[in-house]
Amino acid sequence: MNKENRPVYNNKYYLTIGLEIHAELKTKTKMFSRALNNPDEEKPNQNIDPVSMAHPGTLPVINKKALEHMVRIGLAVGGTVANFTEFDRKNYFYPDIPKGYQISQYKHPIVSGGSLAGVDITRIHLEEDTGTNKHEDTYSLVDFNRAGVPLAELVTEPVIYSPEKVAEFAKEFQLLLRTLGAGDANLQKGEMRVEVNLSVSADPNVFGTKVEVKNIGSFKAAEAAARYELERHISLLEANKGDEIVQETRGWDEEKKITVRQRLKENSEEYRYFPEPDLPKLYLHEMFDLEKMKSQLPEMPWEKRVRLSNLGIKNADIEILISDFEIADIFNFVAQSDVDNIELLTKTSNYLCSDMIGYRSNEKDFIYPDKSSFLKLMNMVISNEVNSRAAKDILLILCTQGGDPQDIAQEKGMLQQSDEGVIRAMVQIVLDLHPGPVKDFQEGNENALKFLMGQVMKESKGTVNPQIATKIIKDLL
Ligand code: ADP
Ligand code: MG
Repeated sequence: MNKENRPVYNNKYYLTIGLEIHAELKTKTKMFSRALNNPDEEKPNQNIDPVSMAHPGTLPVINKKALEHMVRIGLAVGGTVANFTEFDRKNYFYPDIPKGYQISQYKHPIVSGGSLAGVDITRIHLEEDTGTNKHEDTYSLVDFNRAGVPLAELVTEPVIYSPEKVAEFAKEFQLLLRTLGAGDANLQKGEMRVEVNLSVSADPNVFGTKVEVKNIGSFKAAEAAARYELERHISLLEANKGDEIVQETRGWDEEKKITVRQRLKENSEEYRYFPEPDLPKLYLHEMFDLEKMKSQLPEMPWEKRVRLSNLGIKNADIEILISDFEIADIFNFVAQSDVDNIELLTKTSNYLCSDMIGYRSNEKDFIYPDKSSFLKLMNMVISNEVNSRAAKDILLILCTQGGDPQDIAQEKGMLQQSDEGVIRAMVQIVLDLHPGPVKDFQEGNENALKFLMGQVMKESKGTVNPQIATKIIKDLL
């Protein structure tokens, strides 16, 4: 690290990265038509209509839900939501773009500024997705299911300084979209695409030549591509071959784990952007009540991190509780029953994040337990009605067959014995059976207490409340 907190590579080089992230938005229909937006459609060319196929004479109509998603994203990242906004045509020819232009935004993005995971955001604009090409040996096919699906494009400032931060930022954006219900942003399904813009320089105040890497299919690949480019630039610079670094677009080859040249950089002039004449200009502050929308945002991942961390929940579990919505849903149900009960909440997060997640991955007949039954089990743990071993076993039953935890505990003889009279009788039997250790304890040997407790546990098949039993042993001796 140097004094600006930037990592230094090879003792000499600074890495600068800016990201462009595309994410499909969750809507019923496409950005400008009634064709369905269904990312799960497997049969090609089902979700099409005259608008998304660019038939002559058809006109686009703006999807208001997509605008609403954009406004909420903008509010969540603390950006400025523009009042005036418009769409532009970005002209280029490619088979997956039937109109010969993509409707995008150029001068007036919906969102400007804001930040996420400590990274400054330049803009977030709204556009339409393209179709997908399938290249066979001697021909290519085009599927237009995706053409016209609403797509948010987020652009960051060049203020990312390490490959690890690339993955961190992209994950945080995915989490934000999921938290807002604005998109699933599944990279494997192509719902989110990360492009890494990167340059390397020996002077932290002067940019090196920028290269853009596309075709990244996972967070891991995003980080790996950035690291590969960093090393490629450094070895060229070290060999005095800096002039071989040219402004270009490269593609990540997931098989070979390398980047390869795709094309030299196009300039924005080449797209001949101009305002889309078939769509109205928009005044978002008149269309939406921003104050109200802001107040109705759900708890943000970064807010939730602080809240859960204040409860003493460990970081790894916190990440599960903010990103795994099924698990979080159960946690929230328990939390609603007793917000201030820290013991209940930390125990709950333990059982959910270790035990239940384990059952979920290992048990083939796993089901999410009924939330009230789960809460009941947690309360039985807190009140020492069952010990932790029994609780894990009961949870497994709840997660595979269901049932009432109290009944299960009763049936399997797992209920902890807390009745002082009963425990006292059991302890007395153990003490009578082991005069040696009793004497040792009376002479101050603390290990003898452990031995006696062990015997009480054995006698009671582990059902005795250990705190009460310990207290009684001490009392009787
Ligand atoms: P272009 O006009 O070439 O598309 P932009 O200015 O639109 O470039 O920036 C695209 C992305 O590249 C942004 O995320 C920006 O932060 C990033 N970027 C710009 N210059 C550099 C650079 N020298 N090194 C790394 N990233 C950069
Ligand atoms: Mg650009």
